[in-house]
Amino acid sequence: MPHENDNKTAKIKKMIAIMSGKGGVGKSTVSALLATHLKRLGYTVGLLDGDIKGPSIPRMFGVSGPLEKDAHGLIPAISPAGIKIMSMNLLLEHEDDPVIWRGPVVSGVLKQFWNDVNWGELDYLLIDFPPGTGDVQLTAMQSFVLDGVIMVTSPQSLVQMIVGKGVNLTNKFSVPIFGLIENMSYVKCPDCGKEIFIFGESKAKTTAEKYDIDLLAQLPIDPELSKLSDNGKIERFESKTFKEIAHLIATKDCQ
Ligand code: ADP
Repeated sequence: MPHENDNKTAKIKKMIAIMSGKGGVGKSTVSALLATHLKRLGYTVGLLDGDIKGPSIPRMFGVSGPLEKDAHGLIPAISPAGIKIMSMNLLLEHEDDPVIWRGPVVSGVLKQFWNDVNWGELDYLLIDFPPGTGDVQLTAMQSFVLDGVIMVTSPQSLVQMIVGKGVNLTNKFSVPIFGLIENMSYVKCPDCGKEIFIFGESKAKTTAEKYDIDLLAQLPIDPELSKLSDNGKIERFESKTFKEIAHLIATKDCQ
């Protein structure tokens, strides 16, 4: 059956947004790892980097522009594992050029990343949303017919209030929330394996309960992950947790 989000040429089975109340909590990392693990399960996957002002996805996958164009639109970059990627950084002449547009322009570009890109056929299009819960995110929610949302937070980011805003925004559009991922929850001592909660006791569990959403994972700060990410090799990262989350998403599809 055609998806409501199908554009001129693309056929997308499921669209999932990854959201966070603020930047720097690991939203792009979560998006990249989820894309990687869905791909490993054998699905065709696209990743739309909606973080227009701080695009970091191409770096993590080691892909760069310029992009080619055909009669159906811009052709996304392809990661080493075969994930289709579209990002503002693939259109800039220099990846460190600043993007200083205001909200409405950012929203317009997001729509274009959907309409004017030749995504082809995909099982999943993951959208790394711009950080925050304001106008830009509201317009983005209107632009895509989403099948689900994953919320990302970190222990130090005023969890309850920020997650609450995201949940309320998502509920306005009656989009199901797959759950909450708390990133950078703790560090594991490399010598004794003890988990150290450097930001204090996590509130993720009580927050998830308060808003009646599932707590999908609490991820540690992992130097190996940041190294692979910085070197454009994030697809090499193996995560049991993300394997399970990818399975969960794929199984929810069947219901
Ligand atoms: P956001 O998309 O929310 O702005 P990013 O995913 O870009 O955040 O992450 C910000 C920085 O933190 C990046 O350099 C990333 O590699 C690093 N990072 C994110 N999560 C982890 C983690 N669990 N362990 C180690 N480094 C991480």
